[in-house]
Amino acid sequence: MNQKTDVIIIGAGPVGLFAVFELGLLSLKCHLIDNLDKIGGQCAELYPEKPIYDIPARHSITGQELTDELMKQAKPFDPTFHLNQQAEKIEKISDGWKLTTSSNQIIQAKCIVIAAGAGSFVPRKPPIENIDQYENKSVLYAIRNKSLLTGKKIIIAGGGDSALDWTNDLAATSEVTLIHRRKEFRAAPDSVAKMLELEKQGKIKFEIGQIHSLTDENGILSGVNIKNDSEIKLLKTDFLLPFFGLKMELGPVANWGLNLYENLIEVDTEKFETSIPSIFAIGDINFYPGKLKLILSGFHEAALMAQKCFNYCHPEKKNVFKYTTSSKDLHKKLGV
Ligand code: FAD
Repeated sequence: MNQKTDVIIIGAGPVGLFAVFELGLLSLKCHLIDNLDKIGGQCAELYPEKPIYDIPARHSITGQELTDELMKQAKPFDPTFHLNQQAEKIEKISDGWKLTTSSNQIIQAKCIVIAAGAGSFVPRKPPIENIDQYENKSVLYAIRNKSLLTGKKIIIAGGGDSALDWTNDLAATSEVTLIHRRKEFRAAPDSVAKMLELEKQGKIKFEIGQIHSLTDENGILSGVNIKNDSEIKLLKTDFLLPFFGLKMELGPVANWGLNLYENLIEVDTEKFETSIPSIFAIGDINFYPGKLKLILSGFHEAALMAQKCFNYCHPEKKNVFKYTTSSKDLHKKLGV
């Protein structure tokens, strides 16, 4: 079933979240799409614990605290989130846009706001030629349904937090082998200590090596050949979980016919509209002369974008600019 809203925001990073608030002040409703399983973009994914020092009026705030505060500010406007899916395709319709996500959700809106940062976060994949034929079946880059792995043979590859956390977590329910190119890890020291203890107790196995190739039986993954120096060893498995971190890709947005400048979307500086009317780009994803990739720049861009979105959504109405301090009844709407 098609869902309808005023504005679709692609990207639930700090700038997409603040856009909900700015659009909400003008009584515009939003749906947000993000291909991560959580909100907060780079702040929540890359540096949740790091303090940011240049958010106005905050002496210091961590990436996760900023995300939580922005969500608190957006919540009264009741945004709808579509997480774990990518904005894939857009189509012009008579009164706006129809957007299809990678989970086949269809959303219609008058305007689209691209707040996609440096692009979609996608997993770094091992360079194995035929790996795509097993992906989302027996090769998983994220665990969405843990019960699928119960009682199974699992190979986890990687030396960072995800690899170690999942090794420790699944040790009780699955037959886990962790593989990494050396016995040194980038994960939190207590996770490393726990994994080494599990290995000592024989509750998990550890092998030094890198994924060399995959084997299968009747099209179903049956093993992973790992390479250590010149030696190749076959490990039998039901699942392979490569956890090599995430990278960013502009993805499908690149094919929507927008004017681009070195993988960024060109916008004007009056309303942050792209070369296609009623499609806007704010935050790290946009380009204009003098652009600074700062969260506060994205906040300013969101405020100006919202004014123009209002004109597209309500061409018959005049938008009278108001301070939040003098907006009647706003405190009731915000619950403050
Ligand atoms: P992002 O935070 O990148 O969020 C974009 C979201 O869009 C992502 O979640 C992505 O998954 C999603 N997305 C993209 N394409 C699609 C698609 N097609 N479909 C669905 N979802 C999609 N800035 C400061 O101002 N001060 C600092 O001190 C500071 N420190 C930083 C420290 C580090 C380590 C890093 C990495 C960055 C730092 N930054 C800092 C930069 C700041 O994090 C970015 O400017 C900010 O995150 C940009 O916000 P955004 O909402 O535009 O994009």
